[in-house]
Amino acid sequence: MTTPTIELKPTSSPLSDADREAILASPGFGRHFTDHMVIIKWTDGRGWHDGQLVPYGPLSMDPATNVLHYAQEIFEGLKAYRQPDGTVATFRPEMNAKRFQSSARRLGMPELPVETFIEACDLLVQQDEAWVPSHGGEESLYLRPFMIATEIGLGVRPANEYLFIVIASPAGAYFAGGVKPVSIWLSEDRVRAVPGGVGDAKTGGNYAASLLAQAEAAAKGCDQVAYLDAVEHKWVEELGGMNLYFVYGAASDQKPKIVTPTLTGSLLAGITRDSLLSVARDLGYESEEARVSIDQWRRDSENGTLTEVFACGTAAVITPVGTVKSKSTEWQQSEGKPGEVTLKLREALLDIQRGVSEDKHGWMHRLG
Ligand SMILES: *Cc1c(COP(=O)(O)O)cnc(C)c1O
Repeated sequence: MTTPTIELKPTSSPLSDADREAILASPGFGRHFTDHMVIIKWTDGRGWHDGQLVPYGPLSMDPATNVLHYAQEIFEGLKAYRQPDGTVATFRPEMNAKRFQSSARRLGMPELPVETFIEACDLLVQQDEAWVPSHGGEESLYLRPFMIATEIGLGVRPANEYLFIVIASPAGAYFAGGVKPVSIWLSEDRVRAVPGGVGDAKTGGNYAASLLAQAEAAAKGCDQVAYLDAVEHKWVEELGGMNLYFVYGAASDQKPKIVTPTLTGSLLAGITRDSLLSVARDLGYESEEARVSIDQWRRDSENGTLTEVFACGTAAVITPVGTVKSKSTEWQQSEGKPGEVTLKLREALLDIQRGVSEDKHGWMHRLG
């Protein structure tokens, strides 16, 4: 694999300090973008080339560009956090870089070298550092690296040209109004991913496939959809864009245990999910991966052994689950309130990311 250089061609007219500060006062999620983006091309026979940091702006595309028709696309999501000493650090970017490679392989796309992925993210954060919020709290600069097939033509095969792009967006709390439990619609018939499919690749198609169920959930008054496995419609997999955790024993005198569904191939291997397996142990909890059935979820919730459930992912960090509904049933998890273990894990992970507690796993990637 060739490692391209990235040429810096910054804008001469970035947004004014006052306008940027107005955005940073209430950034929302994914609504505003920084002054720059990084673009790297890939061409068959040449590999990665023409890396550039350029002003953020529209792409011009032929209407027959491959990705617009056949969705050969992958993406990532990671965050840069302001550290107490004023510098900036990203959280486990090499994990995103490696997952980007594995998504690329699954979608028949070229792999970007890990160091190029990280360098592209670093250069963008350094250039647009003023966009990294510095009021503490949960705010961050969300980075969205992605790759699209740019060959022109309607032939169906892996394209021979691609663009890798990184854009950045300041992010406040993902769910407005703080840590409020989300309600979950259990999708008993629509599935997100199938065995042998692309459920373990971070590709836009998985999201496209989830939107109708998401709209149906919203019509039932629910915030998010929980998907079951596609074969038995029995095993809990994940939400449309977040992994799930089940907390056992927080109400008894035993050690709490957190359990997350096993990576069966149709789940996305979340980096937050992976990190929490370790953070839980740091806090003296047990953590494990296991299959969890929908009957077990309901039964253990009702008999009180399953004390909390939460969802996790880069964008929202950790979000407690409150009400669970499906066509046939409905129950309240943790009386609809955020649980103690959920909140402790959330604080512990955020403290590492914000640099206020020791980074003993070496997860933070500090930018110079
Ligand atoms: C990105 C994503 C997640 C969460 O992964 P993180 O690395 O923790 O952000 C979970 N599920 C799906 C489907 C995703 O696309």
